[in-house]
Amino acid sequence: MDVEIAVIGGGPAGATAARLLSGSNMETVLVERNLNNEKPCGGGLLSTAFTKFGIPQHLIKNKVHSIRVISPGGNSHDISLNGAYLGIVHRKEFDAALRKAAVDEGTEVMEGTLLSIRSSGKFSMLTIKAAAGEIQLKARHTIAADGVNSTVVRSIFGRFPRRVYTAHEIHGTAGGNALKHCEFRFGAVTPPGFYSWIFPHKDGISIGTGSEHTAEVDTYLDTLVRSQGLSPNGQRRGYFIPVWDGTLYYNKGVYFVGDAAGMVLPFTYEGIYYAMRSAEFAAEAVLKDNPALYKKLWQETYRRRYLLMRTLQRYFLKNETRMERLVSLYGHPHIREASMCLWTQDDAKVNIAGGIASLIKKYGTAR
Ligand SMILES: Cc1cc2nc3c(=O)[nH]c(=O)nc-3n(C[C@H](O)[C@H](O)[C@H](O)COP(=O)(O)OP(=O)(O)OC[C@H]3O[C@@H](n4cnc5c(N)ncnc54)[C@H](O)[C@@H]3O)c2cc1C
Repeated sequence: MDVEIAVIGGGPAGATAARLLSGSNMETVLVERNLNNEKPCGGGLLSTAFTKFGIPQHLIKNKVHSIRVISPGGNSHDISLNGAYLGIVHRKEFDAALRKAAVDEGTEVMEGTLLSIRSSGKFSMLTIKAAAGEIQLKARHTIAADGVNSTVVRSIFGRFPRRVYTAHEIHGTAGGNALKHCEFRFGAVTPPGFYSWIFPHKDGISIGTGSEHTAEVDTYLDTLVRSQGLSPNGQRRGYFIPVWDGTLYYNKGVYFVGDAAGMVLPFTYEGIYYAMRSAEFAAEAVLKDNPALYKKLWQETYRRRYLLMRTLQRYFLKNETRMERLVSLYGHPHIREASMCLWTQDDAKVNIAGGIASLIKKYGTAR
């Protein structure tokens, strides 16, 4: 079967790329291994994402207007998102809605698993296992949107992207639906280099944490869950999140987007919105038949933000003394405002980043 575009993976990145490409009259086939997939995910998306991509509000299961940051020593600050919000979506429903939007634009969805890919630069040969048997697809352009365990990345480069392991438990506690903020905890019951979260969830609360050292995550999560007065016997699921290194965009007719390309924001580990943005940039490059445009658009928009977040993560999450300082910084209204601006405003690229650096110096914490 010959197609113009093959999109591998029907998560936020793949569904967005497919919608934009078929909406521009490109013949697009989206291959998803499990149309009932429920990605283990906190499902937190800033309001920017809902506006930018016209995501319907009915997909939001919980909406929060503030976050709480808690230090290793137990100090905390409640921070308003200044008119913005975090919408928590249910991934199974969210991904299905994004795929439906792609179908409405003409995408053909195929349930099947990509087994392998060979790319010549002019086209790719894809072998897909579907219910009816093996199918060969010959695609002029391929979008690799098959997540952190990408078969495309493995087939072409023989490796996975660098990643951290995260796990979360859902607890249907009586107070769960009453949680009116998203909580970020640093240190104490959290592995070094990461944070723990307690988010509202459609079925209660999601409690999670992560680490580069996969084996230690479950133990930390047990302790974290117990610290909330709960028993660690909720519905637990773990998965990897890629660590961004900014090197993977395009190779021989294949565009890499979302988690397959490691496009997760350092420090916060938000990946849904950035997966969709990377898909948007890649789709534009495909439509202009200019592969280099993808990297250019992405770097112009996000490179500085990602570098800054990575620097802040490496510095502040290094040890508990620095985590304590990080949380105390949120006590300064200017820092609070600047960092919320950087986080919630997609176009706050250069000036805010510089502003935060000088504010941190001013308040004397970067020792
Ligand atoms: C525990 C946890 C909590 C998280 N919380 C948040 C959060 O609150 N907010 C946020 O923004 N991000 C969060 N993330 C990150 C976010 O989940 C990802 O960054 C995001 O899902 C990336 O989207 P994607 O489309 O690139 O990949 P995915 O969502 O992983 O989609 C990939 C798709 O490809 C399909 N696929 C895989 N292999 C194949 C194959 N061989 N053939 C066909 N199909 C295939 C999969 O079934 C899947 O549907 C979290 C991640 C984890 C693990």
